[in-house]
Amino acid sequence: MESVTSKQKENAATKEPILEINGLHKRYSEGKSNEVHAIRGLDLTVNKGDMMAIMGPSGCGKTTLLNMIGHLDRRSEGTIVINNIDTATLSDGKMTNFRRDNIGFIFQLFNLFPFLSAVENVETPLLLKGINSGVAREQAKMILRELGMGDRLYHLPSELSGGQQQRVAVARALITEPAIILGDEPTGDLDSTTSADVMHLFRRINKMNNQTLVLVTHNRWIAEQCDYIVHMSDGKISRVEQGPFTSQEEA
Ligand code: ADP
Ligand code: MG
Repeated sequence: MESVTSKQKENAATKEPILEINGLHKRYSEGKSNEVHAIRGLDLTVNKGDMMAIMGPSGCGKTTLLNMIGHLDRRSEGTIVINNIDTATLSDGKMTNFRRDNIGFIFQLFNLFPFLSAVENVETPLLLKGINSGVAREQAKMILRELGMGDRLYHLPSELSGGQQQRVAVARALITEPAIILGDEPTGDLDSTTSADVMHLFRRINKMNNQTLVLVTHNRWIAEQCDYIVHMSDGKISRVEQGPFTSQEEA
């Protein structure tokens, strides 16, 4: 495969921010005696098409940061601009649609619908967007096959291993092609072969669709498959390590 296409060169030449965070703070139990200051004045710019890793010790605020970016929880202070939209200006109703159209989540706990088969779990986001059910079904099958799940399409989550459930969760996050994909330890429970498969898939969709990926990981090898690594400490960014890294594989 050609390593750098002209399209990728063009993308690299015209880097534009997809996510801009300024002066972000998050305090849990704000104003109470048990207040926790989890994010402490964090600034971060992520460009369209970046594939970045976040690393840092347990409790440093990684999950909190992802929840702020994904707007699953309210920030205490600061601005978050996604796709040139200051998200503070969106009403709750608009926020729901904005999140659905722009952000894909891969949780550590897969959050699959237990009573839906693999293919039904994956097609659900497309059906919610009003896409024709036949088209949705075909796309869901296609992405599951790509992830080596072609022989598990009609299994329920309870009939799948942890690694297989994770691949269903990954497929479900990718299928709507959101501008930003957020993963909190997205390969956390996978064996190293399956982790590598998932990372290859991430890299492929990153290159193919110029989608942005923000992945929290404890695993150095996973982090090194990304373009750069943002290190967090005590609710702030302490250091950015720029790739490419030596362990990075050809996508
Ligand atoms: P990480 O993902 O890096 O391990 P977290 O973002 O989960 O860190 O947590 C950052 C800090 O915020 C920790 O001190 C944690 O105990 C605290 N924290 C996280 N979630 C909550 C919550 N819902 N209520 C109160 N404190 C929380
Ligand atoms: Mg966490």
